[in-house]
Amino acid sequence: MAKQVLECSFCGRKKPETSLLIAGINAHICDSCIEQAHGIVLEEVKSSGAKIDTTDLVLKRPKEIRAFLDQYVIGQDQTKKVMSVAVYNHYKRLMQQQQSDDVEIEKSNIIMVGQTGTGKTLVAKTIARMLEVPLAIVDATVLTEAGYVGEDVETILTRLLQAADYDVAKAERGIVFIDEIDKIARKSDNPSITRDVSGEGVQQALLKLLEGTVVNVPPKGGRKHPDQKFVEVNTQNILFIAGGAFDGVERIISKRLNRQAMGYNTSKNPDNIDKENLLQYVIPKDIKDFGLIPEIIGRLPVLTHMDPLDKATLRAILTEPKNALIKQYEKLFLMDDVKLTIDDDALDYIVDKALEYKLGARGLRSLCEAVLTDAMYELPGSDIKELNIDRDYVEDSLNKNLLRRLQAAS
Ligand code: ADP
Repeated sequence: MAKQVLECSFCGRKKPETSLLIAGINAHICDSCIEQAHGIVLEEVKSSGAKIDTTDLVLKRPKEIRAFLDQYVIGQDQTKKVMSVAVYNHYKRLMQQQQSDDVEIEKSNIIMVGQTGTGKTLVAKTIARMLEVPLAIVDATVLTEAGYVGEDVETILTRLLQAADYDVAKAERGIVFIDEIDKIARKSDNPSITRDVSGEGVQQALLKLLEGTVVNVPPKGGRKHPDQKFVEVNTQNILFIAGGAFDGVERIISKRLNRQAMGYNTSKNPDNIDKENLLQYVIPKDIKDFGLIPEIIGRLPVLTHMDPLDKATLRAILTEPKNALIKQYEKLFLMDDVKLTIDDDALDYIVDKALEYKLGARGLRSLCEAVLTDAMYELPGSDIKELNIDRDYVEDSLNKNLLRRLQAAS
């Protein structure tokens, strides 16, 4: 008897005509029928009123989110905790939209206050990486009111669409990180007659996005492509994280704390206030006094601060995160069969210089580059298979390369 050729029970294609044929109990299905069926399922879900496809959303508990953040971000305890809860609640909210229930959970958009280089972008990136959702990082300083030179706020969503490979459903549950939100603060307390192009108008425009609305997004961005078709994006389930240094907000906080200490509320004894890190006492009113409009603050209900990076934190940043700088250099050298080791006091010295020249965490990278460039140039192809960096090596190479330039600049 001739051997029976298996075929797809749905379209009848013979096995050789398919890329894949999966066997069931009494039937077979080919790859193209699976794809078609998947499309039908998605359509059904859409038309049955379910707002989003949460099937591939894995809800992680706050402690799991925190543990993931810990792998990449050093310190910043309060932010990690607050973020873990906010992100957890955000995704819980997405899940509950599947059920028709009259208690509506509101969005928990976040605002992070902290000096530049303390890890605000890193936190947002890490959250997006964990959730496997698209992330758009935008700079508030380039945004202007519609009609002015600069970018309209809608282009924020263009970036998100690009990050989601133009998959609108994916973009609609992504994360937007708006950096330098403090730069669109109202310049003065007096909302004067002249229009404040970079300030309040932009805040008003942003408000709509934060509130959750359907926005016509130019998929290519900008106004350079006038004939492009707009894509509708609903921002209701997009998590917005705003970050800013809010230079000078410490003065506002300190004034308020002093007033409180003098008033009835004597619970805050001024002697107990940590003056080195006033940001930890930030409250929404301080942000308002800084110049963000109350409506914006209301739409960013989760407020958290970033601690300044001290010596121990900078030292840990060098070696502890999953993709720590030193681990990256070790890997780079290993690709040339070179085993790189760096003495502890050599690392301490790098941290001291980063602090001395106020270079922050970003400076660690340029310091390491200055230390290792010569070796990265000389060693590939040589017979040297081990490289130990001690304190003298760091001192010499920094003196030779970077520090001279830094000293000249200061
Ligand atoms: P910000 O957004 O606050 O200006 P970034 O997140 O861009 O700062 O941080 C700059 C770089 O410094 C990051 O790429 C990261 O390597 C490092 N960094 C800053 N803070 C931390 C931290 N708390 N833990 C680990 N790395 C950090």
